[in-house]
Amino acid sequence: MKADEQTEWIDTELKVEKLLVEEMSMARQAYEELLKVSETWQKENATRLNTWKQGIAVNEAKARSVFTLDQLPEDAVVDLWDKLNAVGEAQIAYEAMQEMLSEFKAEGKILDQGQLTRLYFALSGVARLARAQLGTEALTDADAGQVGEQSTCPVCGEATRLALLAPPVGKRYRFCRTCGHQWAAKRVGCILCGSEQASEQNYLHSEEYPGVEIGVCHNCGDYFKEFDLRQQAFEDYVWEDMRTLPLNFAAEQWFAEMAKNSGKLL
Ligand SMILES: [Zn+2]
Ligand SMILES: [Zn+2]
Repeated sequence: MKADEQTEWIDTELKVEKLLVEEMSMARQAYEELLKVSETWQKENATRLNTWKQGIAVNEAKARSVFTLDQLPEDAVVDLWDKLNAVGEAQIAYEAMQEMLSEFKAEGKILDQGQLTRLYFALSGVARLARAQLGTEALTDADAGQVGEQSTCPVCGEATRLALLAPPVGKRYRFCRTCGHQWAAKRVGCILCGSEQASEQNYLHSEEYPGVEIGVCHNCGDYFKEFDLRQQAFEDYVWEDMRTLPLNFAAEQWFAEMAKNSGKLL
């Protein structure tokens, strides 16, 4: 049953996280330029979002997250997207952006890779601002009952495959790269499906990336990435996730090998 629910959820949402892992690769400089524009925009619009955000305060219908990305005020998304396009010297008409946003919401994709990247930054920037405005109490409410239960963010509803192990004792959190929220996870097992059978998970390491490991789970057939902050003080988890993309590919390969080997046995 749980697997069915998960499948349904993934099919109906924006799939931003998956899109990034699979398709987005950027140089650090380009990343930092976009991040700077987004952060400046968030500061400048901290009060303006209040007028934008009718309807995103509580996501009562779904009750899985406070809001979802398709509920974010489109004016705000397009406004930030326009500023990001200026950095990429790829400015397009406001109406064209609105149209692309509708298409993205309906189909989850945009053909122009550069626009897709900047749209992601825009959605993420507005989601971060919306999250920042929720206040501690709302965030605590959103987290209540979430420990070890689901891999979708209780604030923005996006899927995550990132975990953090915090010093001093390695308390474990999930991290949402879209809105920046982090929430508690069980110490052991798969952060995606909740399986706690140690025999169901393998952890892949690489000497090239100290403090980072990939957990591959036989139970759900998926993988997640873990940053051990006791080993290294990672600062920007989104960038670190992108920098360590080769580990994702290693996990994909690991699954492919497993499939091939099991095929041989038959
Ligand atoms: Zn989130
Ligand atoms: Zn799993």
